[in-house]
Amino acid sequence: MSIRKRTLIIIVFSMLLFLGGVSVLSGRLVMESFIKLEEDSISGNAARAENMLLREAEGLLWVNRDWSFWDDTYAYMDDLNEDYVRINLQPETLETLHLSAMVFLTPEGEVRSAAPSPSEGGAAFMEWIRSNGAIVASRSGYEGFSGFFLLEGRLFMVSGAPILRSDGTGPSKGVLLFAREVGAEEAESLSRSILLPLKIHRAESTLPAELGGILASMESTGVSFLSRPLSSEVISGFSLLRDLRGTPAALIEITSRRDIFLQGKKTVLQFFLWLTLFGGFLTALILFLLKKTVTDRLENTRAILERIASSGRVGERMPLSGSDEVTSLSGSINSMLSSLERLVENIPDPLFLSDNGCIVHANREARSVLKTGNHVPEGKRLSSFLTEEKSGPAPGDTSPIFEGKLIPPGGPEIPVEIHRQSFLLGERTLTLSVARDISARKELEDSLRRMAYFDDKTGLPNRTRFLMLADEAIRSGETFAVALLDMDRFRLINDMIGPAKGDDLLREFSRRIQGVLSPGDVVARVEGDAFGIILRKRGAWEETSPVLTQVKKEVMTPLFVDGQTIFPSVSMGVLPEAHKCVSATAVLAKAEVALLRAKGRGLGQIALSREDEAAGSRDILTAEGQLRKALEQGELILHYQPIVRMGTKRTEGFEALVRWRHPDRGLIPPGEFIPLAEETGLITEIDCWTAGQACGDIARFAALAGGGKQMKVSVNASARSILEGDYCARLAAEKKAAGISPRLLTVEITEGVLIGSPAAAATSLETLRKEGISVALDDFGTGYSSLQYLSRLPIDRLKIDGSFIRRLFTGDGDRRLVKGILTLASDLGMETVAVCIEREDEYLWTLEQGATYGQGYFFGHPRPFEEAVLSLLPEQPLI
Ligand code: C2E
Ligand code: MG
Repeated sequence: MSIRKRTLIIIVFSMLLFLGGVSVLSGRLVMESFIKLEEDSISGNAARAENMLLREAEGLLWVNRDWSFWDDTYAYMDDLNEDYVRINLQPETLETLHLSAMVFLTPEGEVRSAAPSPSEGGAAFMEWIRSNGAIVASRSGYEGFSGFFLLEGRLFMVSGAPILRSDGTGPSKGVLLFAREVGAEEAESLSRSILLPLKIHRAESTLPAELGGILASMESTGVSFLSRPLSSEVISGFSLLRDLRGTPAALIEITSRRDIFLQGKKTVLQFFLWLTLFGGFLTALILFLLKKTVTDRLENTRAILERIASSGRVGERMPLSGSDEVTSLSGSINSMLSSLERLVENIPDPLFLSDNGCIVHANREARSVLKTGNHVPEGKRLSSFLTEEKSGPAPGDTSPIFEGKLIPPGGPEIPVEIHRQSFLLGERTLTLSVARDISARKELEDSLRRMAYFDDKTGLPNRTRFLMLADEAIRSGETFAVALLDMDRFRLINDMIGPAKGDDLLREFSRRIQGVLSPGDVVARVEGDAFGIILRKRGAWEETSPVLTQVKKEVMTPLFVDGQTIFPSVSMGVLPEAHKCVSATAVLAKAEVALLRAKGRGLGQIALSREDEAAGSRDILTAEGQLRKALEQGELILHYQPIVRMGTKRTEGFEALVRWRHPDRGLIPPGEFIPLAEETGLITEIDCWTAGQACGDIARFAALAGGGKQMKVSVNASARSILEGDYCARLAAEKKAAGISPRLLTVEITEGVLIGSPAAAATSLETLRKEGISVALDDFGTGYSSLQYLSRLPIDRLKIDGSFIRRLFTGDGDRRLVKGILTLASDLGMETVAVCIEREDEYLWTLEQGATYGQGYFFGHPRPFEEAVLSLLPEQPLI
C-alpha cells in the first residue's frame, strides 16, 4: 500500500475516532443534563399538581368550617329545625358547593342528618360513613381535617370540622363532613388551573399494568415523584397521592412535550454537525499539506528512482532540492549510485548491461576496448561487439558462463569468457554480461593442443592424433588404407649430419609426402623416423599403390646436405582395407607388422599386411590369459614412489605403481602390460586390485608407524575404470573395509577420461568427491581438454606430464608452457605436481615457478612398500 493511501487512511481514521469520541462524550454529557433538567421539570409539575389538589382539599375544609362554626348549625344539631333545612340544606346546596355528600355526625359518629339528594358516589360515601362514622368523628380535632379518600373505586376529596358555635366555642355537637367525588371533571378543572394536561388514576387493582408498576416502584422506593418518557416526543411525571389513611389513593400524571430533551438533542446534533464539518476541513487541510510537503515529493523521488533503475544507467543521479529528509534520502541514494558506478566502472573486465540485446550501459573497460572514450554506445546491438561461441556449453554444463569473442571496431578479436546474468527490473529484463579476456588461456590451450596432437619438429599430427583420425575414419564407415613409412638407416644419416640437420631432413620428407597426397589424406609422424599415412576413399591395394609408389619415389629422391649427396631410402608397410579393423591400434599394429616384414626384405621395400598376420590377436589372447593368471596368483605387486612438497622436500605421500613379478621374465614394468589390460578390459580388475592393496598398505602403515602417523597414497585409474565399471564404488568399499580416512586417498585419472565422455566423467568425479577422495589429473598436457571445462570439475591436483619436465632445458617453448600451466592451476585453486624431476636444475626451476609438489628419481625411485616406508621412518624399522 502506498504511503499516500496509508496516510489517508490513518488521518481519516484518527479524525473519525476523534469526532466519534467527542460526539459520544459530549452527546452523553449534554444529553444527560438535558434529561435531568427535563425530569426535574416534569417532577416539579407533578408536585405542583399534587399541591393544587391538596390546596383544593384545604379550601374545602375552609368552607366546611364556615358551616360547622356556625350557631345555626350548632342549633340544628340539637333541634333539626325545619328552617335550617329549608334555608341551607336544599338539593342545590350540594351542587353549589360541588359536593357529593354533606353529612352531620354526632360526637359518637352517628349520622344525625345529611343534605338531601347526594350523588350516586355521595350515597356510597354515606353508606360507608354510617358504619364508620365513629372513627371519623374521633379523628376530627378542633381544626378539622381534609384529604382524600378512596372508596370502592371512587376517589373523594373529604373534609371534616367540629360543629361549634360561631365564636368557636363548644361543646362540640359533632362533626360536619364534606365529601366531593374527584372525577374527570375535577381533573379537567385542575388541569386548566395549572395549565398542564393532568390525569388522576385511582390507586386500585384495575390500574393498567404500566401505571401499576410505576405505583409499586414509587411505593417500594418511597419516592413521591417520578418521571417516565413515553416517546421521544412526550414525557410523563407522576406524583403519589395518599388518602387520609396513609394508603395510596391516586397517581397524578402530568404529560408534557419533551421540549427540553428535543432542544438538547437538536443542540447536540448541531454541535456534531459543526464538529464534523470542522473535522472534515481539518482532515482535508492536513492531507493537502502532507501531499504537498511529503507524499508528492516521495512519489516524485520514487518515480525518478524507478526511471533510473529501469534505464540501467548507473551514471544518472537524483535531483537535490531543499534540505529536508526527502532531499537527504535522495542524497543517500545518489551516494549509493556513485558507489555502484565506481564499482561497475572499476571492474577490470568489460561489462555490458543490455536490454533486449541493446546496450544500456558499458563500463570504462568496455568503452576502452571498444574505443568509444567516455561515450556509451547506447542502443547499439550488443551482439555486434560480443558474440558467443557457436558450440555452446559442454554437455551437462548449466553454468551461465560461455566462451565467446569481443570484437573491438577495427581491432583484433579478443577471446573472452562471458559471465551472463539476467534479472528483472520493473517490467524489463536486463542482462549483465561480463567479458573476461582469456587470450592467455587460449594461447596455452593452443600450445597444449599442439603439444598433444602435433609433432613439434615437422608440425605434422603425432601418433596420438594419427590414432584418433584412424578411429574417426573407422567410425565414419568410409573406405581407407593405411601405410607406415620408415626411413632406412636414418640413425646412420642422423649421426653423419648431426641431429639439427637430421630434423631438417625429416621436415623435408614430410613436405615431399604431403606434396603427393590429396586433400583429406593424412600424414603423421608416428615415431622418430616413421610416418603414417591415411589414404581416404581408397581401400584396395590397386587404388593405393600409385600414390604410395609416387610417395616412395619422391622420398627417395637424392638430396644435397653439407656438401654430401644423400640417397634416402624408405620401407613401407601397407594395410589396404584398413576400415575393416576394429580399432586404430589394431590398424597400426597390422601396419607395423607389415613394415617389419618389408624391412626384413631389405632397403626400400613395400610389404602388404597379410590376412594371417591379422591373427596377431592370438598373441594378445595368450598374453591376456597370462595377465589374468598373474592377477589371480598374486604376481602383481605395488611399488611406492614418494611425492614431496617443493621447498622442504618432505615426503607428503606416495604414488602406488603396479608391477608384474613374472616367474620367468622378472619384474615387468606397467608400460608393458597396462596397454594390453586396457585393450582387453582387464584394467578395471587391476585398478581395483591396486586400490584394495593401497588401502591395505595405508592401514598397515598406520599400524606399524603408530603415533597417529598416516601415509597418503595416489592410485592410478584408467579411463575405462572411471567411465565403465563400478570402480568408484569398489574403491569406496575397499577404503571402508580398511578403515582408513578418505583424505589419505587420491585417484589419478588422465585427460582421456574427460575428453571421451565429459558428463559421465563429471558424475564419477562427483561420486569420489562425495566420498571425500581427492582427484588428480595425471599426464596433464598430453591430451587436450578445454581449460574452461576443467575449472568446473572437482579436480584437486594437476600432474604436469613428465615430457614437459624432460624438455625444460632443451627448448624455450616448454618452459613457457609449464609456467602457463602452473599459473592456470593456481588461478583455478588447484595444487600442482611436477613429475619426472631427475635433476637439481629441474627441481629448482619448478620450485621457483611455484609447483606445489614434486615427484621423480631426484627425490626417490618407486620402491616396494617396506623400502618406501623404511625410507620415511629411518629410525623406526617397521619390519
Ligand atoms: P604415471 O602415472 O605417469 O606414473 C609415473 C611414471 O613415471 C612411473 O612409471 C614412474 O616410475 C615414472 N617416473 C617417476 N619418476 C621418474 C623420473 O624421474 N624419470 C623417469 N624417466 N620416470 C619417472 P611406471 O611405474 O613405469 O608407470 C607407468 C605408467 O603406468 C604410470 O604412469 C601409470 O599411467 C601406469 N600405471 C602404473 N600403475 C598403474 C595402475 O595400477 N593402474 C593403471 N591404470 N595404470 C597404472
Ligand atoms: Mg600416475
